[in-house]
Amino acid sequence: MKSSHSFIVENIDKIKAQLPAGIKLVAVSKFHPVSCIVEAYRGGHRCFGESRVQELVSKYEELKDYSDIEWHFIGPLQTNKVKFIVPFVSMIESVTSLRLLQEIQKQASKQDKVIDILLEVHLAKEETKSGFDIQELGNTVALIVDSAGAYAHIRLRGLMTIATQTDDEAVVKSEFATLKSLFDEMKEKYHEKNEMSYFDTVSMGMSHDYNLAIQEGANVIRVGSLIFGERQY
Ligand SMILES: *Cc1c(COP(=O)(O)O)cnc(C)c1O
Repeated sequence: MKSSHSFIVENIDKIKAQLPAGIKLVAVSKFHPVSCIVEAYRGGHRCFGESRVQELVSKYEELKDYSDIEWHFIGPLQTNKVKFIVPFVSMIESVTSLRLLQEIQKQASKQDKVIDILLEVHLAKEETKSGFDIQELGNTVALIVDSAGAYAHIRLRGLMTIATQTDDEAVVKSEFATLKSLFDEMKEKYHEKNEMSYFDTVSMGMSHDYNLAIQEGANVIRVGSLIFGERQY
């Protein structure tokens, strides 16, 4: 029996009940206290997304006993901070440059880990958003694929994007469709390469647009405020 009513668990259950099979929900807990994560955990949820290194590390430390939590890093990542999250992070979704990729490889190698990563693609209109443009993305994937083991501590799992913040559904829909077609293109082009054998993830869609993202082919969605409520910055 549940001892107290939890709106967080209720929200997660409501979202999960409507998700088609095979879609993973990352509960984005940034700016929310550890107690909210524990609530979600007690309700059975295991995968959480954080966007700031310091916040993630301190939450991880506090929640060490919950050893089956899967942490996804989804925010801007400075190369000098990579080493702090490599020991425990399950996936880095926000790889935005070759330099960052190389640093993750280096730290993961030092710490004897293999880290799942997504390449973040910049498709949104806003210049402030980060990620590879389409040409850089092509070059980077080619580089990994032809690296002859130079990225052995990285597992390229797929692509991620953050859509333009707009009420114009057509814009968002077309960005999601573009990410999915880039994914399909790469999967097709390199399907026989070892480096691409784990390439299976399309991460897109947040609280206000995850249904659209799923329609367009997402299999990972990242939902924060719809689960935990508005963030207090
Ligand atoms: C904050 C954040 C989310 C979640 O946003 P909500 O609108 O609260 O669902 C998803 N993805 C990334 C990269 C984020 O930074």
